[in-house]
Amino acid sequence: MTDLFPYNTLKVHAQAKRFIELNSPDQKIPTDEPFLFLGLGANILFTKDFDGTIVKINFSGIKVVKETDSEVIIEAAAGQNWHDLVTWSVDHNLSGLENMALIPGTVGAAAVGNIAAYGQNQEDVFESLSALDITTNKSINFFKPDCKFTYRESLFKKNAFLITSVTYRLSKVPHLETSYHATRHASLLPTLQQIAKEPYTIKDVYNAIIKMRTEKLPDWHKVGTAGSFFKNPVITKQKYTKMQSRIPDLLAYPIDKLLYTDPSDQDKYVKLSVARVLDELGWKGKNIGRVSTSPNQALYVINLGGATGQEIFEYAEMMRQDIKKHFDIDLEYEVRII
Ligand SMILES: Cc1cc2nc3c(=O)[nH]c(=O)nc-3n(C[C@H](O)[C@H](O)[C@H](O)COP(=O)(O)OP(=O)(O)OC[C@H]3O[C@@H](n4cnc5c(N)ncnc54)[C@H](O)[C@@H]3O)c2cc1C
Repeated sequence: MTDLFPYNTLKVHAQAKRFIELNSPDQKIPTDEPFLFLGLGANILFTKDFDGTIVKINFSGIKVVKETDSEVIIEAAAGQNWHDLVTWSVDHNLSGLENMALIPGTVGAAAVGNIAAYGQNQEDVFESLSALDITTNKSINFFKPDCKFTYRESLFKKNAFLITSVTYRLSKVPHLETSYHATRHASLLPTLQQIAKEPYTIKDVYNAIIKMRTEKLPDWHKVGTAGSFFKNPVITKQKYTKMQSRIPDLLAYPIDKLLYTDPSDQDKYVKLSVARVLDELGWKGKNIGRVSTSPNQALYVINLGGATGQEIFEYAEMMRQDIKKHFDIDLEYEVRII
């Protein structure tokens, strides 16, 4: 038995029957019982013990695969720390990942969860990935359309493939994304203006993101959290307008590629910022036993210390039920519940 406490950022205790660390993609994975791949454990809630094998992905490294006058294609191993990859790209003056600085986790999981932050998305610079098919033990290359990336989703959520490496196409020409949340006080632009002068560089954007995140978001090294617990729901514009009359400063974003179906959906739907709605219902910083949400961000569920996974899950379920009761919206978990 292995206690998973050091292996999940929500800092809950749960026992794994077996625990192995993969230090190379060639290492054999035992498939005789249920198994679960694990990176940093920044997107997982263990509500109970795991009656199987936890396979922790450790192998890391970054290499340049191809370089042209304008672009560099890099390959990162699945266990590579994501923030260190972003820092590496910024240090090499390559653009495409800088807004995703400080997202905790590994490269493999970044593709699994199709991570994004401040208007940048891993799929926008994604080129391909290599994965091991667990049933056939064969290595397969997946290109973007194969991966079925949608909002925090991909083909790889089912745990049928072990992602071994991911390649990204980064630009030598900065394509800076600074407009995200432009209508909000929390916008990237004012922070950028505080710390740098135009023309902004890739490093300026990276530094502004780090400043914003460290000032506003809880530090997972100190506090038990898995980031946003729920996905922002997609609702009709009609419903959004109705909600706006009840909630001042309600915020929503264009759905962009979220529905990945009919472009005309852009006119019908928006992605609702559900943190503001939770705030309105009194969830921001609300303590119940050993669980709370961040005083700055109601979507961040916090383990105040010693909470069990089940207690955290019950707290999150109360949030979900409250949103359902007051606004008839079904929230989906962004965190994987085990
Ligand atoms: C403080 C905080 C802030 C956050 N901010 C953001 C944010 O801004 N944007 C965002 O998108 N997310 C954010 N997150 C969520 C989290 O950082 C990401 O989901 C991250 O990609 C998780 O990486 P991980 O290595 O910890 O994944 P884990 O939690 O270990 O695993 C996540 C999933 O991926 C699977 N998996 C892991 N590695 C592999 C592999 N090699 N092959 C196949 N499957 C694999 C696991 O089985 C699991 O299903 C935040 C989390 C925290 C704690």
